[in-house]
Amino acid sequence: MATLQTNAPRIVIVGAGYGGLAAARRLAGPSRGRYNVTVVDQHDYHLLQFELHEAAVGKITAEALALPLRDLVRGTGVRFRQARATSFDFADRVVQTNEGPIPYDILVIATGSRTATNAIPGVREYALTLKSLDDVLRLRAAIAAALARAAHANMDVARRALTFVIAGAGMTGVELAAEMAERLPEMAEAVGLSRHLVRIVLVELSYHILPGWDAEMVAYASAVLQALGVELYLGARVTAVEPGQVHLASGEVLAADTIVWTGGVQACAEVAASGLKTGERQAAVVDATLAAPDHPDVYVIGDAAFIRDPRSGRVALPSAQLAVEQGKAVAANIHAALTGGQPQPYVPRAAGWLVSLGGHAAVGNVGPLRVWGPLARLLKTGSELRYLWMLGGPRLMLARGLRLHTDYRPVRGLLALGRRLALST
Ligand SMILES: Cc1cc2nc3c(=O)[nH]c(=O)nc-3n(C[C@H](O)[C@H](O)[C@H](O)COP(=O)(O)OP(=O)(O)OC[C@H]3O[C@@H](n4cnc5c(N)ncnc54)[C@H](O)[C@@H]3O)c2cc1C
Repeated sequence: MATLQTNAPRIVIVGAGYGGLAAARRLAGPSRGRYNVTVVDQHDYHLLQFELHEAAVGKITAEALALPLRDLVRGTGVRFRQARATSFDFADRVVQTNEGPIPYDILVIATGSRTATNAIPGVREYALTLKSLDDVLRLRAAIAAALARAAHANMDVARRALTFVIAGAGMTGVELAAEMAERLPEMAEAVGLSRHLVRIVLVELSYHILPGWDAEMVAYASAVLQALGVELYLGARVTAVEPGQVHLASGEVLAADTIVWTGGVQACAEVAASGLKTGERQAAVVDATLAAPDHPDVYVIGDAAFIRDPRSGRVALPSAQLAVEQGKAVAANIHAALTGGQPQPYVPRAAGWLVSLGGHAAVGNVGPLRVWGPLARLLKTGSELRYLWMLGGPRLMLARGLRLHTDYRPVRGLLALGRRLALST
């Protein structure tokens, strides 16, 4: 364990998500002991968000997605404090939290995002969301309740109970729709219902799913979803949600007991209220080095930041992948600023984008290469395992990776082989 110097600059990172943890690990690594690095998070776990949809349908346990933060920082020299930041006092360099004030010399805001309801009436009250561990548990409970209700009801009630409307066909909506379509019919059969009673409806404002994605990839993803039985409602604007009803601008009303809103994200409320200049998604505008303008000791990264690619002017997508890159970049810039070096402009660079379409297919690109089908799914799983390796080395990757991917054919095969070997000895 590194010795923390009491007079070392205090670097406080609020948010132990993808960006915050990457920044903390980089700052603690080569400069071990040089800085007092504290990570503050409202939870005592790091959430593997990109597998939330799998936990929502019960493919993996929700707990498997929560990595204890104290374990992750053990031996790194990073200090962890569980507290919820309530406001930022930039003049006095203090983060106010529900556990008392935390002073800093350098602050990194990495508080991520929350679901944006786009001020549509009823979304907040009557739709479920998919962003947190609580959301997963609520959606799982809703699915279980719907199945139980349908099992003891007449046909009309059963149909409505087993209709699931997902509003928003970006990555989260598409991944969730595919998992539900793959899993729920089996679950219905398991309680004695016809699998054909399950109806998954994916509603999207654009005239195609995955807005902003390449047309061929969209066509492939749409075909896979439709083969799984997902009904696509495209060019459909949701105007209101009521209990059991989704109202569309066309006048059509979709009746469904379970409605999930996946229509986008916006920065957390504390960022919006911080007084920092904000852009789209209420995210904080940053300069080229990821520092907040007029606050050279405050940096903002990940979904909380509004970043443009200096080459194309395009807005960087809120994503785990870019949050990690920004965490590393901000660590290098803080180190440079504190040691008389030259902070470097951050340029968003994504290795590729992959969207899963159930357990056996995905689509996307890796660099200039388009990938789809089982190969893309393998690459997607590989990228998740790689992330676990980065966080906790081969041990975490193996331990969590197997827990997270027990449903994945190669892992199932590996586990079956292990069991056979164990039984034969
Ligand atoms: C279902 C789903 C699938 C996804 N799939 C992918 C994918 O395949 N690839 C990809 O790149 N991205 C994916 N994403 C997006 C990705 O998860 C986010 O972009 C990423 O988590 C952003 O990282 P971050 O560090 O900015 O914030 P987060 O990872 O959200 O971390 C923010 C942290 O801040 C903490 N926090 C928030 N407010 C406070 C406060 N006031 N006080 C203290 N702590 C606070 C939170 O508890 C959290 O730990 C997916 C997201 C979802 C929901």
